[in-house]
Amino acid sequence: MDLSYDVIVIGAGPSGYAAAIRAAQLGMKTACIDKSIGKNGEPTLGGTCLNWGCIPSKALLDASHKYAEANEQFAQIGIDAKVSVDVERMIAHKDAVVDQLTGGIGALFQGNGVTHLAGHGRLQAGRRIEFTPHEGEAATLQAGHVILAPGSVPVGIPPAPLTDDVIVDSTGALEFLEVPKRLGVIGAGVIGLELGSVWGRLGADVVILEALEDFLPVADPRIARDALREFGRQGLDIRLGTRVMGASVAKAGVKVEYQDKEGDHKLDVDKLIVAVGRVPFTEGLLAQDSGVNLDERGFLFVDDLCATDAPEVYAIGDVVRGPMLAHKGMEEGIMVVERLAGHKPLVNYDCVPSVIYTHPEIAWVGKTEQELKADGEAYRTGQFSFAATGRALAANEGTGLVKILADADNDRILGVHILGPQASELIAQAVIAMEFGASAEDLGLTMFAHPTLSEAVHEAALGIGGNAIHMVNRRRS
Ligand code: FAD
Ligand code: NAD
Repeated sequence: MDLSYDVIVIGAGPSGYAAAIRAAQLGMKTACIDKSIGKNGEPTLGGTCLNWGCIPSKALLDASHKYAEANEQFAQIGIDAKVSVDVERMIAHKDAVVDQLTGGIGALFQGNGVTHLAGHGRLQAGRRIEFTPHEGEAATLQAGHVILAPGSVPVGIPPAPLTDDVIVDSTGALEFLEVPKRLGVIGAGVIGLELGSVWGRLGADVVILEALEDFLPVADPRIARDALREFGRQGLDIRLGTRVMGASVAKAGVKVEYQDKEGDHKLDVDKLIVAVGRVPFTEGLLAQDSGVNLDERGFLFVDDLCATDAPEVYAIGDVVRGPMLAHKGMEEGIMVVERLAGHKPLVNYDCVPSVIYTHPEIAWVGKTEQELKADGEAYRTGQFSFAATGRALAANEGTGLVKILADADNDRILGVHILGPQASELIAQAVIAMEFGASAEDLGLTMFAHPTLSEAVHEAALGIGGNAIHMVNRRRS
């Protein structure tokens, strides 16, 4: 094993592997250390995202959506079908996708000349790294530059300690081998909604207990309100303003005790998912003398360019401030190594898209209306409903809307919020427009293919100037 590298990355999640691949592409001698062991007992690459996060959850979301669509929506468009589900095969499909993609990162490492070191990395002073492999002798490595990308882990709550496969976190909730009849979820955030949807679509009665009185306060209020109504229609029983007091495993499932403003309640479920957020993971990462500091919330402290307090040591992804999203971490990793190579990229933190992969999907970029109000920024709004979009109706997908917020003075797009079919894909149009500093008028003057879902984006942009064609524009005084 070589002991000296230009760049050593600790963590091979999306942030770390993207940084390592780009560093090698730029001619730097690069190693990437990761300690993860996959479901098959072998070292794996791809971190949370590929093994226990983005990818497996989307495999189950897509499969469960197809099942629910066949059973519940096909009849409305003249197809009579009754399909059944084989959960074990669905999980096996998910595992096969994970294997293919994690193996793909291995192939990319090999193809680009990144050395994969399977084991634990710990940063010491002077960019020395104590590497403890899963097999073989520990070694001290020397790096010209270090990139820390150790990611995050789920946080628990004392009243609901994880218990075998009954009270589980998101990782356990991707492994149920049969559909629970009654499923409880603590937390109506991204994971609660996505995994609650998966098992709800497959037939579970889902109750989601959320501490806050407001549903999805990070999203635009109109989008959150419409989404809450739609999820209720789909059978997700979302109870806001609740406080879980205890959860005990009984013979037949879990007994949950919670309070809301009406008093004490009991809820019996077969499985309980705890999805109340994630925290940065720094256990065993830093020797006493590493020179890297944490902020008051336990994240590695970095500046705008992801530099830590230790010279030539950078940190990226879930372990640093900002949203815990794979694409945000990847961009940070690429920025760091491109700057090492003398390029000058920046991450535009105002243009990080967020997506919740429910059906309909929720996606947004930029500011929400409540943020603009709080900032005292004058803005104008354009909205267009998918119910007035020919392609959406043809596809029986008329639920939701596109909402665009633009600066009242110069018309620059400040935020775009979508509830609707393929919102995860549509939002990319808004990200590109905002990256190029587009005005709502720029989008309005752009030609969109007909009939497409994208026309809802076009019409919402036209609506800001009162020029939408397929809806009656609000009169402006
Ligand atoms: P991670 O992916 O967590 O990777 C860190 C890696 O470093 C791990 O393999 C870890 O074992 C390793 N490591 C840590 N410390 C050490 C050490 N000292 N030595 C060696 N190795 C170490 N994000 C999205 O953008 N879109 C989604 O659709 C999405 N869906 C998600 C669904 C679920 C169920 C979950 C849980 C998360 C989801 N996320 C999603 C979030 C996404 O997974 C994270 O934002 C992303 O994985 C963070 O990437 P990272 O590289 O910073 O860290
Ligand atoms: P989250 O922050 O999205 O949601 C957690 C929810 O739990 C919040 O609504 C919070 O108010 C609630 N909560 C907290 N404590 C509670 C308690 N004691 N009782 C009841 N409710 C409580 O966190 P998450 O859903 O766990 O997801 C973690 C991270 O993973 C997120 O930051 C997200 O960015 C990332 N993720 C992203 C995606 C995606 O991009 N589609 C998917 C899954 C996860």
